[in-house]
Amino acid sequence: MSMDARDETIRRIETAIDERRDELIEIVADLVRRPSELGHEAAAQAFVHGHLAGSGLATESWDLDDAIHDLPESGRSGVPFAGRPNVSARRAGRGGGRSLILNGHIDVVSPEPVAAWTHDPWGATVVGDLMYGRGAFDMKSGVALNLFLPRLLRDLDVPLAGDLIVHSVIEEECTGNGALTASRRDRADAALVTEPEGGQFTHAHLGVLWFRVAITGRSWHAMQAWRGVNAITKAVPIIQALERLDAKLNEESHPVWAGIEHPINLNIGVIHGGDWPSTVPGACELHCRLSFYPGQPIGDVRALIERTIHEAAQGDAWLRDNPPVVSYDGFQTSGSVVDLEEPSVRLLGEHHRRVTGRAMRPRVGTAVNDMRYYNFVGVPSGCYGATGGNGHAADEWLDLTSLAPTAKVLAGFIVDWCGLVDE
Ligand SMILES: [Zn+2]
Repeated sequence: MSMDARDETIRRIETAIDERRDELIEIVADLVRRPSELGHEAAAQAFVHGHLAGSGLATESWDLDDAIHDLPESGRSGVPFAGRPNVSARRAGRGGGRSLILNGHIDVVSPEPVAAWTHDPWGATVVGDLMYGRGAFDMKSGVALNLFLPRLLRDLDVPLAGDLIVHSVIEEECTGNGALTASRRDRADAALVTEPEGGQFTHAHLGVLWFRVAITGRSWHAMQAWRGVNAITKAVPIIQALERLDAKLNEESHPVWAGIEHPINLNIGVIHGGDWPSTVPGACELHCRLSFYPGQPIGDVRALIERTIHEAAQGDAWLRDNPPVVSYDGFQTSGSVVDLEEPSVRLLGEHHRRVTGRAMRPRVGTAVNDMRYYNFVGVPSGCYGATGGNGHAADEWLDLTSLAPTAKVLAGFIVDWCGLVDE
């Protein structure tokens, strides 16, 4: 195919993106209006399946298998897999080109506390250039792009040489099990997670481990509280030890995260303790999240946590005899890095420059995302997507003006990566 024909194809696609921008916004809204918190992904995935199948892609929805728990880098969400499928769809190429996976996660975090929102979390309310809603930004914006672009390519009859594959996966926000499974089901020459990175390219992210610390006390009537052992107050030295661990871990650095403020974060995210104001609490549990650098074995991180808690318990007679119990749920997964010199990354950067006039800025993440599973199986992958804010917070918003430029960058990238064939 001549350069003229390639340029003409990209021009046609970009014109269509501008003309059909409202359709893209409506796909985001359709997704936001289908709440898809952990355990409730089915309705949103059914919409995704229908849209991709409606664009002529060979589309499959499948439930994850419990055997996934035997794989390294899997986690446990505690929610059975039945009825919460992953979706995978393939637009077969004409042959001879490179293949590409576009990945997005369908799950969103809880909007609680809903009272903190100005807008309905599931309303997809548009005010000016912003759309509000849980997931509007993270990352139904990306899933919508992954649906819109194949529809456009079909409608415009763009003859790609390589396969274009779309993955819509569950459990990105708690385990990564969806992407872990999808990355082993379909391989490609590159993958891109369309997380809303504000036009930056995320090329590295940390590993994340979730853990729980169960502290046992002794319940007693509060009229003689001194005769009981308060599990909530016994949690205090454990919490302080975990805070010291957080500070200590940030004294070490990693070349990729140099210059990032406080890259390692140990968050005590949930505390459950006690059940009655007039009862001394007999149990208290902390749910925590710790990040760590790529290359650090998960087993070493677990050992460090357990040692920290054990040492803290030695300073208290009750805790010494009744040691806190550490257990693991949710994320148990390593970080990953993709080389900025990868051909797919360079090509994406060229299209970012073409559309925006600026160099694509690399970004390193201090959370975890699904790009890792593709990198783990040798499919170079990073994140690139739209602009917004308040992810995992009240009044999450998407900048609707970022959708068309992002779609243009992605479309140009797809055309050049997968290649065009002569009709
Ligand atoms: Zn996300």
